[in-house]
Amino acid sequence: MKVNVLGTRVDALDTEQVVQEIARFIAEGNPHQVVTLNAEILYRAQRDQALKELINTADLVTPDGAGVVWAARRLKQPVPERVTGIDLMYRLVKEAERTGWRLFLFGAAPGVAEEAARNLKKNYPKLQIAGTFHGYPASNEEEALLSKIRQARPHILFVALGAPRQEYWIRRHMQELNVPVSIGVGGSFDVIAG
Ligand code: UDP
Repeated sequence: MKVNVLGTRVDALDTEQVVQEIARFIAEGNPHQVVTLNAEILYRAQRDQALKELINTADLVTPDGAGVVWAARRLKQPVPERVTGIDLMYRLVKEAERTGWRLFLFGAAPGVAEEAARNLKKNYPKLQIAGTFHGYPASNEEEALLSKIRQARPHILFVALGAPRQEYWIRRHMQELNVPVSIGVGGSFDVIAG
């Protein structure tokens, strides 16, 4: 079910239902964008019509942030729980080890995505990390980045550039990348790298 918070759409799904939806997106195979919506972005979307439009046309929008959950409840359209970028990423990693989904980690300072990948592999030895790339590519590196992602053929692309930069990046490139699921996860790689 979709809920409307200040003109911005949020999906009223709990974490397990979000994982099921993502599994369905992967089975479909065509590109999908997942947004985890926090209060800061929701606030920004009030003044930024392009951002609001992007969120409202994403394939899945999760309530990331107590403020969003609170606002939905106030508007008498409750959502089940917070689904944050980091929680969703950990949950999907676990599912990926079980199902064999390949993951690509793009974003954060040089070295951080690799370190995050190493830490994930420690806990989930059978996990398939198809590739990593840091989040500060020079304009002449952009093509190498895109072709690295395409060749890795991941099922899920995690993009950690901060919001809303990552949401715009995903929207701009999702069709050419042809990855079934792309998700913006903010500062999650820094957290996982420790
Ligand atoms: N970042 C990046 N490229 C950029 C700007 C930011 O890779 O051009 C990374 C930054 O290194 C950090 C993350 O994006 O890992 C932003 O984290 P933050 O916690 O600010 O994002 P939020 O969770 O607030 O969206």
